[in-house]
Amino acid sequence: MVREVLMDGRREVPKYRKDGSLAAKPAVQYQCQACNEWVSSTKVSVDHIDPVIPVDNKFVDWNTFIKRLFCSKSNLQRICDECHNKKTQAERKLRKSIMEQSCKDQPVASGTTLSI
Ligand SMILES: [Zn+2]
Repeated sequence: MVREVLMDGRREVPKYRKDGSLAAKPAVQYQCQACNEWVSSTKVSVDHIDPVIPVDNKFVDWNTFIKRLFCSKSNLQRICDECHNKKTQAERKLRKSIMEQSCKDQPVASGTTLSI
């Protein structure tokens, strides 16, 4: 499945030696689905579009977790190292802001009186 995702955006480019002659084996490049750049095979990874652990850090149940882990092909994307780093940082920020938000919300929630 992961291999399939990679094969979709794979190309071979002629590789030249330092002396300018054509190398026997072409270089393999993959297209990043986030920035559309072609990068060498060492700089690309297959990433879950939805994080396996939800950003709000709430563990739902094992079924959901496993479903996310063995997700369908549509939830996988080829992504270059640069975009992957950006995504990881964005998720980290999002997690942090959600955590801060839920802390702020708590006193309000507990102070709310319900009229029955
Ligand atoms: Zn990219």
